[in-house]
Amino acid sequence: MLLSVPFPGSVYAALRIAQTIKAARPDVVCVLGGGYVNTELRELAEPRLFDFVDYVTLDAGERPLLALLEHIAGKRSKTRLVRTFWRDAAQVRYTNFVEPDIPFDDVGTPTWDGLPLDRYLSLLDMLNPMNRLWSDGRWNKLTVAHGCYWKKCSFCDVSLDYISRYEAASAEVLVDRIEAIVKETGQTGFHFVDEAAPPKALKALAEELLKRGVAISWWGNIRFEKTFTPELCQLLADSGCIAISGGLEVASDRLLQLMKKGVSIEQVARVTKAFADAGVLVHAYLMYGFPTQTTQDTVDALEYVRQLFEHGCIHSGFFHRFACTVHSPVGLNPAEYGVTLQPLPADGRFAKNDIAFIDPTPTDHDGLGQGLKKGLYNFMHGIGVEQDIRSWFPVRVPKTTVPKRFVERALTMAR
Ligand code: SF4
Repeated sequence: MLLSVPFPGSVYAALRIAQTIKAARPDVVCVLGGGYVNTELRELAEPRLFDFVDYVTLDAGERPLLALLEHIAGKRSKTRLVRTFWRDAAQVRYTNFVEPDIPFDDVGTPTWDGLPLDRYLSLLDMLNPMNRLWSDGRWNKLTVAHGCYWKKCSFCDVSLDYISRYEAASAEVLVDRIEAIVKETGQTGFHFVDEAAPPKALKALAEELLKRGVAISWWGNIRFEKTFTPELCQLLADSGCIAISGGLEVASDRLLQLMKKGVSIEQVARVTKAFADAGVLVHAYLMYGFPTQTTQDTVDALEYVRQLFEHGCIHSGFFHRFACTVHSPVGLNPAEYGVTLQPLPADGRFAKNDIAFIDPTPTDHDGLGQGLKKGLYNFMHGIGVEQDIRSWFPVRVPKTTVPKRFVERALTMAR
């Protein structure tokens, strides 16, 4: 029995599932994997986890699971398991008998065969229109490619396999998978769960969908890069794209450069507008509290966001507080970003991910964060878009330095 844990919030439920199965059928082999495990449990040393599961595997699951199946069938010893943790008496052991991963082109088509999909739970946990897409209804999940083709952003886990190993499949293979999934599930909605779907692959996919007359609705994450011209956005919309999300992050050109995002605010304005004009819902991931971010940067960020709403470039957004993770460039080279890391607890045996840091820049991120969230929430509902940006902050802040017509000009320059 395989349990895939994507986020920290799913860990408890996964362990309860494993516990219940083990209580009823102790002979069932339980294996834990997935995004959370791949990110946070890489240095696992807690033997009590194995009271619930028998094995924990890291990164792409195909090869470790094939090895594990052979082991269970008595054809492979434990010393030849691939990227797998297991318990040996009271000790956690990690075995990685290196074998090549299965190419993305050959991983096959996901299947939901036998599951009661009509009983899928719809949740409305947030009014934000993009968050609503996540959990209000069911989507077939598929990836356009493995990993991220950009893999440079300094806050991202670029040193880990799920970002760093980029591999694409051909459009023909992807549309074969899509057709097979629609046939099996009877459902035509797709969520492409890539961290950042590559524009060239999306273009080829859209052309193949249109060529074969396959009618689906789809949405996913992208980078707001200039390859997304108005023509490409229209093509994607014609192929069934209903929503996209991407990182505008700190909405400051200085900090976007420092974080190696590879986009500018002007470019984001043009790309988001092109998607919006094609009838696609646009969501921006936003961030505050990045190393060296000043109060002025934060006020200006909200002004950029305000202007993007004013001009119909974005419809939705969410401000996340920056978290430094051990596998990101900031966590690996803190001095380059002007911060120092706090030591991790010496006795940590379970998850290792977020790491506290000291940023000498005197910015009240807690106070400013409230203003960012309040302003953004109102903009999403069309409220107060014309108001002075300072009015959203609960603390005294300086006037914005962003020209009043910045986004308007960026959009005019595109014509
Ligand atoms: S943040 Fe997104 S675009 Fe940047 S490296 Fe990570 S996955 Fe790629």
